[in-house]
Amino acid sequence: MNDCLTCGAMLAPDKRTFFGFVHVCPPSWTVWCPEEGGTLADGRNFRATDSEEAAKAWAERQDQGEVSIAAGNNCIVHVCPSGAEEPVSIYDVSGEIRTEYYYKARSIA
Ligand SMILES: [Zn+2]
Repeated sequence: MNDCLTCGAMLAPDKRTFFGFVHVCPPSWTVWCPEEGGTLADGRNFRATDSEEAAKAWAERQDQGEVSIAAGNNCIVHVCPSGAEEPVSIYDVSGEIRTEYYYKARSIA
């Protein structure tokens, strides 16, 4: 699989399709957090199908390294299509840390 040079999506070796469907890059969104003094100029750009997915992508990126949002620190973020001047959506972003269990079979002695 190859990655789209624009959005990073996985593509077939023809660099045009994914499982037979012609790839179209999702739109670009700018996301920022005014709570922490951020402005549109501080915003990060994400490729996402809609503003909600862009807000989630921002939270995932924000929590890389030190988990904060997923640890219970909600954050209000503004989202606009990249290039626009005003937010089109405002989200209260939260998360959770899940505990998972694994098993490995052992032989019966
Ligand atoms: Zn793409």
